[in-house]
Amino acid sequence: MTQQQGIRIVTSSASSDIGIVELDMVGEKINKFNEAMLVRFKDVVEELKKSSYKAIIFTSKKNKIFVAGADIDEIKKLKTADEFNKAVSVGQNLFNAIEDLPMPTIAAISGACAGGGCEFVLACDYRIASDDKSTRIGLPETKLGIIPGFGGCVRLPRVVGLQAALDIILQGKLVDAKKAYKIGLIDSCVHQNILESFTLDFAKDIIKKGAKKRSKQFVANGLVNKFLESFVGRPIVFSQAKKGVLSATKGHYPAPIKAIEVISKTYDSSDRKNSMDIERNAFCEVAVTDISKNLIHVFDLTEMVKRQTGISKEAENKGAKAKPVTHIGILGAGTMGGGVAYVAADKGIDSRMKDLNHEALGRGLKHARDLWSKEVKKKRITAYDLEQKMSLVTGTTDFSGFKKMEVVVEAIVEDMEIKKKVIRQTAGEMKSEGIIVTNTSSLSVNEMESGHPNPQNFAGMHFFNPVHKMPLVEVIRGKSSSDETIATVFELAKKMGKMPVVVRDGPGFLVNRLLLPYLGEAAFLAEEGMKVETVDRAYTHDFGMPMGPFELMDEIGLDVCVKVLKIFKESFGDRIEMSKVLKNLDSSGRQGRKNLKGFYLYDESGKRGEVDQTCYEAFGLNSPSNPLSNQECIERGIFAMINECSLALYQDKIVDTPHEVDLAMIMGTGFPPFRGGLLKYADKVGIKYIVDQLKIYHSKGHNRMKPTDLLIKMSEIGKGFY
Ligand code: NAD
Repeated sequence: MTQQQGIRIVTSSASSDIGIVELDMVGEKINKFNEAMLVRFKDVVEELKKSSYKAIIFTSKKNKIFVAGADIDEIKKLKTADEFNKAVSVGQNLFNAIEDLPMPTIAAISGACAGGGCEFVLACDYRIASDDKSTRIGLPETKLGIIPGFGGCVRLPRVVGLQAALDIILQGKLVDAKKAYKIGLIDSCVHQNILESFTLDFAKDIIKKGAKKRSKQFVANGLVNKFLESFVGRPIVFSQAKKGVLSATKGHYPAPIKAIEVISKTYDSSDRKNSMDIERNAFCEVAVTDISKNLIHVFDLTEMVKRQTGISKEAENKGAKAKPVTHIGILGAGTMGGGVAYVAADKGIDSRMKDLNHEALGRGLKHARDLWSKEVKKKRITAYDLEQKMSLVTGTTDFSGFKKMEVVVEAIVEDMEIKKKVIRQTAGEMKSEGIIVTNTSSLSVNEMESGHPNPQNFAGMHFFNPVHKMPLVEVIRGKSSSDETIATVFELAKKMGKMPVVVRDGPGFLVNRLLLPYLGEAAFLAEEGMKVETVDRAYTHDFGMPMGPFELMDEIGLDVCVKVLKIFKESFGDRIEMSKVLKNLDSSGRQGRKNLKGFYLYDESGKRGEVDQTCYEAFGLNSPSNPLSNQECIERGIFAMINECSLALYQDKIVDTPHEVDLAMIMGTGFPPFRGGLLKYADKVGIKYIVDQLKIYHSKGHNRMKPTDLLIKMSEIGKGFY
């Protein structure tokens, strides 16, 4: 590195007693702690130690980033516990040295201050932050399957108390400056424009008062909090925290449990070295696990999307790029249209819904207002913010205002002819370069494009229900969609806070194509005598799915599942079989949550209860006796998805890479992130094992379980998806 290796010390022009340390990593948009930065920082601390400064201010020269954290690419290179141990020691020793500097230290934080960045400021005596939206402070490590290892588990509870520290560490949370101030993580929260002058005055004041180091230990307020922080109360806090983690993670994520262990062993101790040893050893234990590697893989997948444009490098080089989108139109203000309007307006995009009548529009508007009202209740936004956001959602029964729209999202009834007609009509009301996207989940985008007079301006934009919760958007590239159209839709999805994955047209696109065989298999398991609750529990507790297949079928609507399976059967033939359960659907009168009758019982508000024990009879099944093992239940569903995926990926080329499959399945179905995604999981289990098991299940008369030639070939040549 040059430019003082990314960190330099300057004497403040306001006072020669104040040294300012500027972090400005060379050749990067952000500051992060990689090996070179840490080595350089060590020298800087040595210099500071010898200096005559009476106070030190740490600041960042990067825009909206203080320190983003440790360098993940370097973490990925570490393999053994020994390698992790060495790397973590460097950070721990550096931050100990900062804590031990003879003069008081102040971090002036603006922008992201995460992971190692947060652990660094915790080693400072004081922390002042800008109230800019970009300021986010916290410890996200457990989301990557590791724990804070540069002293974060030891220092954060001492600064903010046990409860607030556990809240941040166990959930891997980042908090804004206001919240950070409220919990005592920072000493002041000031406007960005005065951060520098305020911090200088703060330093001068400290110097005036004798330039003393601070020996702050968290002091609880109120009787209950005092009790919970006490020697007697702490075990209750730890045991509740552990219970909460286990119930949320079903025991699949060891890092938060490890963090609780470290905090409980170190919170009392005044022996810093011993505490750091405990933290470092625990870090190494979790860092070497497959779970951490898988979670880091998922992190990489989400970072990959940030860099992508949705089109090829070649197309980019030819000048294709996204057009700016500030106004969108939405056809249909129903479940999906209302959801799309909400997420778009939430991100500042003017959203105009068009529906057949004012009643429908009213429902769409109410949907958005209800969601923001919940945010107001949770104090995440103010009542003023709510009104501001609401002002961005409007409704119409004609095409007024559509000339302004750069993009229109079609979310009306699932009917090809009606959609084509409405698309043609809408295109006539927009400017010629306007883009129309369809949110269809089962119709062909390639066929639908004939409704558009300029099909290059047409594509699919498939949101998942509920739109405000599901991060995935499948951007469907139709046969005529232009690069500019795809880039624009891809960028729009990102602007809406979503994770876009570009897919080609084909029945069910990517996610539903893989999901339906899995759901269909669960119906066969019931037909073979498995209890609904046993199968759902195997998938949630043993495998880690957020919801069991029967719960999910009830959510989607049993009628919708049957309809889509029928469409698939037309395209895929024998690979799709329909169990007795789904064949008897009509006579059962069960559609799932929407008619409060499905595999589960529902109360009038739609809240799911126990399994409806009458469902077996209603579907024409015998009383269940659980003849199959949990392992078989899980393998048949998951391997069915992997089998289908070999065709979607390599034969039909619905997506280009296994990375996209994994990202889509995690973001679109909640496939357990700790398994790294469907295909990471397949590679881990081994393609040969999967093929062998599929052959066994196939030989039991399940024709749909026949392994594909592609999968067999992969197994023979020892190839994985990655
Ligand atoms: P919905 O029935 O809740 O809403 C459809 C809305 O479109 C209704 O308000 C209706 O009045 C309106 N509409 C009908 N014809 C219209 C026209 N000519 N002009 C303007 N508005 C019109 O349906 P939904 O569940 O929101 O589904 C809409 C689309 O999204 C469908 O293509 C569906 O396949 C797709 N989709 C649905 C889901 C889901 O889970 N519901 C998920 C993904 C995609």
